[in-house]
Amino acid sequence: MTSKSCKVNATEISLVRGDITRQDVGAIVNAANSSLLGGGGVDGAIHRAGGPAILDECKQILAIQGKCRAGEAVITGGGNLKAKFVIHTVGPIWRGGASNEEKTLASAYNQSLLLAEQYEVKTVAFPSISTGAYGFPIDKAARIAVAVAREFCSGHNSRGEIRFVLFDDRTYEFFKSALDE
Ligand code: ADP
Repeated sequence: MTSKSCKVNATEISLVRGDITRQDVGAIVNAANSSLLGGGGVDGAIHRAGGPAILDECKQILAIQGKCRAGEAVITGGGNLKAKFVIHTVGPIWRGGASNEEKTLASAYNQSLLLAEQYEVKTVAFPSISTGAYGFPIDKAARIAVAVAREFCSGHNSRGEIRFVLFDDRTYEFFKSALDE
């Protein structure tokens, strides 16, 4: 398997080519939409693989706290997945770059990492948020993802792993360049 990693403080930041639904980790992150009711891309794949329990929990969250805004994150169980939890975060839709997209993407990663920490998850796996249907340029998105992970590790000395699970070669290569910088 293609993979690469580096260590910041006690945490490993790693990159792998693969399918996030198959990761044997404490939590996987879903690039959800604000409705939390599922969609295409990685969101659809996670709900298909995880079964209806995840959607039921998303509906309960929706009923209690309303839609999940871009940059925010919520957590459910992992249903039939190997992962114990799914962290659902909403990335920004790319509108040209002048609508706070970069900050919102950083927040989506950061809020997800905070939830993982709160639930004592040792290994959390992320897809490349917002770079599919939401159209965020991959070069910028990869740099933001890696920078947030690095900054989080610098500020938190917990032993664990932040894993980026990239679905295609192109996305993997951009993350690799960002990690090499
Ligand atoms: P968004 O709406 O946030 O842009 P998408 O799901 O459309 O989210 O795409 C985000 C990224 O997730 C894309 O790089 C896409 O190729 C990737 N992706 C799709 N399915 C999977 C999967 N099963 N595992 C990991 N990444 C995936």
